[in-house]
Amino acid sequence: MLHRVLIANRGEIAVRIIRACKQMGIETVAVYSTADRDSLHVHLADEAVCIGGAAATDSYLNMENIISAAINTGAEAIHPGFGFLSENSRFAALCESCGILFVGPSSTVIEKMGDKASAKALMKAAGVPVVPGSEGEVSVEEGIRLVETIGTPVLIKASAGGGGRGMRVVNSADQFTKAYQAARAEAKAAFGHDGVYIEKLIENPRHVEVQIIGDKYGQIVHLGERDCSIQRRNQKVVEEAPSQLDDTMRQAMFDAAVKAGEHVGYVSAGTIEFIVDAEGFYFIEMNTRIQVEHPVTEMITGLDIVREQLSIAGGQKLSFTQAEVQFNGHALEVRVNAEDPKHQFRPSPGRIDLLHVPGGPGVRFDSMVYTDYEVPPFYDSMIGKLIVHGRNRDDAIDKMIAALDELIVEGVPNNHAFLQAIIEHPDFRKGLVDTGFIQRHLEGLLKHET
Ligand code: ADP
Repeated sequence: MLHRVLIANRGEIAVRIIRACKQMGIETVAVYSTADRDSLHVHLADEAVCIGGAAATDSYLNMENIISAAINTGAEAIHPGFGFLSENSRFAALCESCGILFVGPSSTVIEKMGDKASAKALMKAAGVPVVPGSEGEVSVEEGIRLVETIGTPVLIKASAGGGGRGMRVVNSADQFTKAYQAARAEAKAAFGHDGVYIEKLIENPRHVEVQIIGDKYGQIVHLGERDCSIQRRNQKVVEEAPSQLDDTMRQAMFDAAVKAGEHVGYVSAGTIEFIVDAEGFYFIEMNTRIQVEHPVTEMITGLDIVREQLSIAGGQKLSFTQAEVQFNGHALEVRVNAEDPKHQFRPSPGRIDLLHVPGGPGVRFDSMVYTDYEVPPFYDSMIGKLIVHGRNRDDAIDKMIAALDELIVEGVPNNHAFLQAIIEHPDFRKGLVDTGFIQRHLEGLLKHET
């Protein structure tokens, strides 16, 4: 059982983790940058330590300062949340060597799965279906030869990529060399590593991912799947659980995900991401951390995934077996962002003048904002997640429409009306969702922007 945990993150996920700790009687230590002095996570934690300046590299990515804060405050574990250092194997290794428990898998597993190209090779070896493409990173010559074999369109992807960044579509072989060089340069600038690999571009697939969770005693279970197909520029905007896959494919994905987890000896919560087309499903990557969209799984299983992560890190066994995981109803999540849909969704930091959060049975708002909170310009633009749980998909959609109607966020341009337009779209109601949804309907979805 853990007694004191440091949360190496900010925003709504830091608040979310503090809540789970409080319910478990675990003391919390928040860390914050100089730009986040007035943040909710700083107020909610038992103790708070400033770890540096506003730029993430000075604070939330500053490993030495975070480790020092943990040692000085007597925290025995660090929960990294998502983003920042959550999938950094060097940070996990640093925790291990300082005798601090990292709430997540081992540094070795993060390293193996963090490199997307090698993770794919590993999954293929474990018998998990993968998108056709290169075996690991490729040189430009190897890339050209591969494109001749598998044909276009292909996707050039950064091994170190994440957050939907570092990808280039190549529609004809003569564009390849230019796109390859641009992708490498972009990857180097964004991730500090310029290795790229190649995948066949699956046209407008569905993105379906399986949540797994494993303890330190070799037990791994899945907690069902989430459909995260509603994306803008490869970044998720709306998520739901369950997906609309047929039961045979769903079960095959669960089996593949658990097999993948067992193959690497996975501990803690993780997600195996797949893309799905008419032919089948293919592994694209594994996220070795808690994800933004975890609440939809919590809503349909009644489990608290962060709580499970904390008890697993403290050496407890999983508190349930696969057979005990029950799925009920349907859940939806929308990401509320301080961004301006009228101007290419550019980030729009500033003061929240008024906030009203909807409520009622099965309505949850995970956020760190409050009236008069100043959204800083230094980090990502997500200011909250609205999650609903209904008896079935239609009921969940009705509930989300009502909840969005009640939500008030004033002071900063945001995507509230855009989210309403997605949820109210007839194709969304019909379940006609794939990763091309937003692009296909963009004009209509932006109609209500004033
Ligand atoms: P990231 O790590 O940046 O999130 P992913 O590999 O998880 O990158 O892919 C993000 C999204 O990009 C997917 O959900 C999907 O929409 C799209 N994508 C990735 N690979 C392919 C592919 N081979 N074909 C079509 N779309 C893809």
